Amino acid sequence: MQHIINRFISYVTVDTESDPESTTTPSTAKQWDLANKLVEELKAIGLQDVSIDDKAYIQATLPSNVEHEVPAIGFVSHFDTSPDFSGANVKPQIVTNYDGGDIVLNKDLNIILSPKYFDDLKQYKGQTLITTDGTTLLGADDKAGITEIVTAMEYLIQHPEIKHGTIKVGFTPDEEIGRGADFFDVEKFGCEWAYTMDGSQIGELEYENFNAAGVKLTFKGKSVHPGYAKGKMINSMLLANKFISKLPKDEVPEKTSGYEGFFHVNDIQGSLEETHVQLIIRDHNLKKFEKRKKFVEEVVKKMNKKYARKFGEDIVDLKITDQYYNMKEKVKPVMFIVDIAEQAMKELDIKPLIKPIRGGTDGSRLSYMGLPCPNIFAGGHNFHGKYEYVPVESMVKATEVIVKIAEITAERYKK
Ligand SMILES: [Zn+2]
Repeated sequence: MQHIINRFISYVTVDTESDPESTTTPSTAKQWDLANKLVEELKAIGLQDVSIDDKAYIQATLPSNVEHEVPAIGFVSHFDTSPDFSGANVKPQIVTNYDGGDIVLNKDLNIILSPKYFDDLKQYKGQTLITTDGTTLLGADDKAGITEIVTAMEYLIQHPEIKHGTIKVGFTPDEEIGRGADFFDVEKFGCEWAYTMDGSQIGELEYENFNAAGVKLTFKGKSVHPGYAKGKMINSMLLANKFISKLPKDEVPEKTSGYEGFFHVNDIQGSLEETHVQLIIRDHNLKKFEKRKKFVEEVVKKMNKKYARKFGEDIVDLKITDQYYNMKEKVKPVMFIVDIAEQAMKELDIKPLIKPIRGGTDGSRLSYMGLPCPNIFAGGHNFHGKYEYVPVESMVKATEVIVKIAEITAERYKK
């Protein structure tokens, strides 16, 4: 267990925060620090064909040790951390034999990780937790995933009696800013399927995610002196308000769960003359997703029609961009790849928690790039903030799941 702790700490203490404003890949130069270190480590544990490209995408191969044909499979995770919270100077704290009570993350700042608020903590009583010192995120998202993949590969190399086909490792930058799959060389990876090790609590196994679109609206107004404005002024902020009021009130993130989709207004910048509104549309169901986009189009169309004479041109500008799609479409035809992961967990006495992701993963993009890619737990909780923590036992279990999946896959293709 100390081995996995040391490895994890050696990763999280390297700052790899990504930056959505950057146009380069990786988005921040500091991601190279960990990327280069990982390349050296993958070579040192004995993986083959360890490569890193000019955008810091890492690939490596563990060759098959069986005679029969087994499809190559991959394990993927990302080494950047979220720009939502600082990832610099991470000082991990280790809580051994957790007593189930409050954990003081930072005495001076009075920051406490409490099971009263984060009730998931209760299930880890007696385990070893790694937490932050309350001033940074931890980076278990997704350095726990990296730790588990590296440790599993090392284990397989040291235990040649465990039979497996070709296993590929893929580490990416910039997942947290939605670009992790952008330059992933699926062809070079050469796998029939893969798994991202990027889920949260132990047992999570996910192959359904949202269909996602981003919507940008510009409402145009007409500025006239308020004293003489009657019949002339058009206030773009009020137009925006009118649009928002047409959206179904209960279909918002704070009132939905499970398979329920939503509209989420996430940015407004306005003045009398021009107001910009951004929202996101999410739905697991493709038909409902398309209907939601249509709904926005219809509302805009009506507003444009209403103001056509008065304004002379379209008063609302609309741009809808699809962001990613539900990987279920791509995974369903090869459902056995989920079954393999589920079987692996069951054999390891882990209760599989199969549920739809209310978000997306690199795996959803990769699935549409030809690499079906369900998501497996990496063990951490409370991602992207100071309350992030990971039970070491969960990281150990995730490592075992990887090994077991390799084993089951080889067994499955035995003649
Ligand atoms: Zn992640």
